[in-house]
Amino acid sequence: MDIHEYQCKELFRHYGVPVPDGNMAFSPDQAASVAEKIGGDRWVVKAQIHAGGRGKAGGVKVVNSCDEVRKITDHLIGSTLVTKQTGAQGKLVNRVLVEKAHNIDKEYYLGLVIDRLTQRITLIASEEGGMDIEEVAEKDPSKIISERVDPAVGLTDFQCRKIVSAINIEPKYFGSAVKLMRKLYRCFRDKDALSAEINPLALIDGERLVALDAKMSFDGNALHRQAEITDLRDLNEEDSKEVDASGHGLNYIALDGNVGCIVNGAGLAMAAMDVIDFYGERPANFLDVGGGASPDKIANAFRIVLEDPNVKVIMLNIFAGINRCDWIAEGIVQAIKDQEINMPIIIRLAGTNVELGWEIMEKSGLKYIRAEKLDDAAQKSVAALRELKS
Ligand code: ADP
Ligand code: MG
Repeated sequence: MDIHEYQCKELFRHYGVPVPDGNMAFSPDQAASVAEKIGGDRWVVKAQIHAGGRGKAGGVKVVNSCDEVRKITDHLIGSTLVTKQTGAQGKLVNRVLVEKAHNIDKEYYLGLVIDRLTQRITLIASEEGGMDIEEVAEKDPSKIISERVDPAVGLTDFQCRKIVSAINIEPKYFGSAVKLMRKLYRCFRDKDALSAEINPLALIDGERLVALDAKMSFDGNALHRQAEITDLRDLNEEDSKEVDASGHGLNYIALDGNVGCIVNGAGLAMAAMDVIDFYGERPANFLDVGGGASPDKIANAFRIVLEDPNVKVIMLNIFAGINRCDWIAEGIVQAIKDQEINMPIIIRLAGTNVELGWEIMEKSGLKYIRAEKLDDAAQKSVAALRELKS
């Protein structure tokens, strides 16, 4: 789960990671009043969307008067920002962050990620921070320094100092840089984060290090014990089908192919997607209906898959252990009757009460293509799709 920059900075404040003075605003007037409260004569107005690359796309503006704060906010809110990270469709801006503008002497990069290969939280840093870190990583990887954290020991001062000197932070800032890293690490651990990124970590006004940008992402599977983080969720930023699905206990991820998949179990869903891919077509989604899927759940699964206009064929693959094929079949019958589905539906049932399941399907009189194995189901789905395309 992702959060906005202003929310992340609020979290940083709480943990003592230095950030500029600032606050979020939903309207031009609110933005101007935030600027007044901060004081001074230079502010930055920053579009709040769950994507980076805003600076280069016109989503971060430095201004010199409250009037300009108002104008820029008016321009940004309601506009669609297209950045390197949003995809071509861009993201709608609903709020801005207004903060104090600082004079930047040098921009560094600092991040924490979980390295899945070593199963360790890893600190990443670079002296080439700012807006082009992806380019640095590609062209000059030696400029990216990393340090793995042993979970039994935690992030040590020694490791922090090693990083700080490797990215050529001046020795007089060593102490504050080490403190900042340790606080960031504490925040990361406490909140079950998957990644934390400060880009840029800036040396400002010739005197101190500050997180000018802030980005964190959290483990969705840990949200049940992270009420504070869950409260920060902005559903406007997420795929509406995914939000809808999670409300019905379905695990749905939108993809870009044409074969809509309804499967029980994450492993089987992954396998189903692989086999479709193997036969030369692409899945339109990942969808795990989970164990004990009621007829209602199956009907909702159909509805959500069908909301995607790219779906041309539906492949349903159920291996019932905890599930029961008769329940699944009832759900299918209900869904197909309620929703007038005008596309080929390929069904494979196996496991508990499978005969009963097929019986319900037969009696319903509905049109569908029966498959016996996963491989068979994928081949028939791909064949049906190819026929439609030809
Ligand atoms: P993004 O990563 O989405 O482009 P950032 O928050 O990193 O957005 O902002 C882009 C650039 O704007 C930063 O690299 C920094 O140079 C500048 N900037 C951001 N916040 C401030 C600030 N408070 N004061 C001065 N410059 C800033
Ligand atoms: Mg940035």
